[in-house]
Amino acid sequence: VKACLSRIEETEPETKALLAVNADEALKLAEEMDSNGPDASKPLWGVPVVIKDALATKGIPTTCGSKILQGFTPFYDATAVAKLKEAGAIIIAKANMDEFAMGSTTENSAYKTTTNPWDSSRVPGGSSGGSGATIASGQCFAALGTDTGGSIRLPASFCGCVGVKPTYGRVSRYGLIAYGSSLDQIGPMTRTVEDSARILNVIGGHDNRDSTSVDCEMPDFVASLAERTDLTGLTIGLPEEYWGEGLSEEVSEACRAAITKAEELGAKTVPVKFSMTDYAIATYYIIAMAEASSNLSRFDGIRYGHRSKDAKELIDLYTKSRTEAFGDEVQRRIIIGTYVLSAGYYDAYYRKAAQIRRLLREDFRKAFESCDLIAGPACPTTAFPVGELTADPLQMYLMDIFTISLNLVGMPGMSLPVGIGKDTNMPVGLQLMAPAFEEKIMLQAANVLE
Ligand code: GLN
Repeated sequence: VKACLSRIEETEPETKALLAVNADEALKLAEEMDSNGPDASKPLWGVPVVIKDALATKGIPTTCGSKILQGFTPFYDATAVAKLKEAGAIIIAKANMDEFAMGSTTENSAYKTTTNPWDSSRVPGGSSGGSGATIASGQCFAALGTDTGGSIRLPASFCGCVGVKPTYGRVSRYGLIAYGSSLDQIGPMTRTVEDSARILNVIGGHDNRDSTSVDCEMPDFVASLAERTDLTGLTIGLPEEYWGEGLSEEVSEACRAAITKAEELGAKTVPVKFSMTDYAIATYYIIAMAEASSNLSRFDGIRYGHRSKDAKELIDLYTKSRTEAFGDEVQRRIIIGTYVLSAGYYDAYYRKAAQIRRLLREDFRKAFESCDLIAGPACPTTAFPVGELTADPLQMYLMDIFTISLNLVGMPGMSLPVGIGKDTNMPVGLQLMAPAFEEKIMLQAANVLE
């Protein structure tokens, strides 16, 4: 804990990965644990971890990157956080993020812009950019992120760390401040595949406080890594749509080299075909914004956080509090989300999106008939300069092209660092995707490839 806190002191002025640092509590807890001696029943005994600020942490301010929650300190822990604590982990800080997880670069945080530890003129990715940067700068050993449309995989790829989005329902969302409830998943961001497996072992499993959490088998993801030392017998599907147009040359090259390595290690590769990829971005943004507009209605200036000082009556209080404290991107999404759900437009937008979502699921089901895993780049480019895309939200949304389909279909995926781009000298992430609840084989393959 001491080493991590001093690393935070050293790197934080430039990286700005963190919102609240829980230094005193963490040190106190670590001292207590030291004096009681190691506890072998706790798999994460004494491990310093950082939590994305979208998760409720008892006694530690939780803002979700928004001014509307400034000053909010939860009186309970999210289930994933409670499970980490039970396993002996020590929460040392909360990680910066795009406001309400809406963004791909962490530039939408209401508090600060996190920079990429590999090159501070570039973005760390988002929305879990604080979690990616805290790992890449060595501030802690594991972080939790959340992934609604790529927010774990994208910053993992930009920061050169491992990031895993589990199957929808694998990890309880209790205590996660909701963005798109049918898409949101919590997952680990770490330096190695094995560390991610360690965290998933702890945070996964059924929780009756989240009705979408699934009572599924929880394999020992760490122990199962040893079952595989090569990729013999494994078929990897390569979707044409992920490897062609729009992909930068350096990302393509690094990812192709990783696929060649997979073949050398015994994997067979086959082409797979998706028919719905062209519609994925539109579909995702309609569904995510619709759900966000509904989820964010709870921030009314009365129950939590910011309350306008000069409101005259109730509606005025709602309007002023929300206008003052929600950032531009959040307001844009609430407006679009409300629009696509409104009478007269629902059929044209939301219903269509729900239909395409169903067809996407069909795409993936068919693709997995001929392979065990699907591989492609996590993002079309490596980390780009801070400010480059902030004026153009549409360009920003296009960054999610390779990650969002998986959230729409609920399946697990991860980003694995596979090299450095020859043009930008920034890390490249290969994305591996698996059928629902097949994280074990995905982590095994990643561990072999690492
Ligand atoms: N960039 C996407 C968005 O802005 C994904 C965010 C996420 O996964 N939380 O919605």
